[in-house]
Amino acid sequence: MAEIQLRDITKRWGSFFGVKDLNLTIADREFLVLLGPSGCGKTTTMRMIAGLEDATDGDIMIGGQRVNDLDPKDRDIAMVFQSYALYPNMNVYENIRFPLKVRKIPGAEHDERVKRAADMVELGEFMHRKPSELSGGQRQRVALARAIVREPNVFLMDEPLSNLDAKLRVSTRAQIKNLSHELKVTTIYVTHDQIEAMTLADRVVVMERGLVQQVGTPTEIYDHPANTFVASFIGSPAMNLMQGTGTGGVFEGANVRIAGLTGPDGPVTLGFRAEDAAVGGGAEITAPVYTLELLGDATMVTVKAGGALVSVKAPKDFRAEIGDEVAISIPAGICHLFDAQTGARLE
Ligand code: ATP
Repeated sequence: MAEIQLRDITKRWGSFFGVKDLNLTIADREFLVLLGPSGCGKTTTMRMIAGLEDATDGDIMIGGQRVNDLDPKDRDIAMVFQSYALYPNMNVYENIRFPLKVRKIPGAEHDERVKRAADMVELGEFMHRKPSELSGGQRQRVALARAIVREPNVFLMDEPLSNLDAKLRVSTRAQIKNLSHELKVTTIYVTHDQIEAMTLADRVVVMERGLVQQVGTPTEIYDHPANTFVASFIGSPAMNLMQGTGTGGVFEGANVRIAGLTGPDGPVTLGFRAEDAAVGGGAEITAPVYTLELLGDATMVTVKAGGALVSVKAPKDFRAEIGDEVAISIPAGICHLFDAQTGARLE
């Protein structure tokens, strides 16, 4: 059992909080992603779990045991970083075997375990190559195999794909997903890339300025963002957000009027996703085209409504000129309402 519990975890340097009052339970075999912009405290959280950083306050429990005072090597955790940190003078086989030697695992087991780990990341045929003779993606897979070979209770992965080019990132991401399904080891994965988070995670923890903003499945976070920060961080393009006033279920802002909402009267922030709205139809907004982007399977139309840019996904054959007036339909059912002051979700 490798359930991980973080209880009131805080990391403070002087008066600066890197992480504040973090409470989280990561289930045995769960794939949990820590997601947030640079500096939000993801890596610090991970380093505290690994034992590379002391928590200022709080308890870190792994499998029911408090590990705050345990050395990293005694926590049964394997880590994969964005820099692969392979030994340049060892070949692939020796690099993967290294953790077994360090841990004094009987030599008779090495061959089989190294081969199994290498096969899992499809490196079987590269065993004799040095890291300098491998591509970036292959090196990252050696790093993965080196973590797998230990058969740890917990995997920690810190932006393992960030040094790879876009295409390799997608294929290695799929490989990590497949591996996690096969290995079923509790995994905490750090990224600032929301697509990586959405595709890999059982649950996502969205962080900002050392604080947890929301914990949920990818679907929960996408469909019910807890606040405007999560709403604008998840999804591409970001959720359209506009300020206005609610009166008896009608939202009115600059250039927009939407009826049939259930929300309070007074100032409110309204949000909707580009893919939920449509061009034509209800004409809750009519505004000039600011830009058109061809996406292949669709056309992203951005209009300038009042001072705000509003994006809507149109069919791929939709065409208009910059400056043309376009009507956008925004049914009440696709709208999210947030507190105008705090940004917290209303409802
Ligand atoms: P990135 O995606 O850029 O790696 P992150 O979310 O992983 O960001 P952390 O590395 O956890 O961010 O850092 C969280 C905050 O703590 C940052 O503002 C950082 O500057 C600060 N921080 C990290 N290490 C220290 C330190 N040793 N002393 C003081 N502040 C630190």
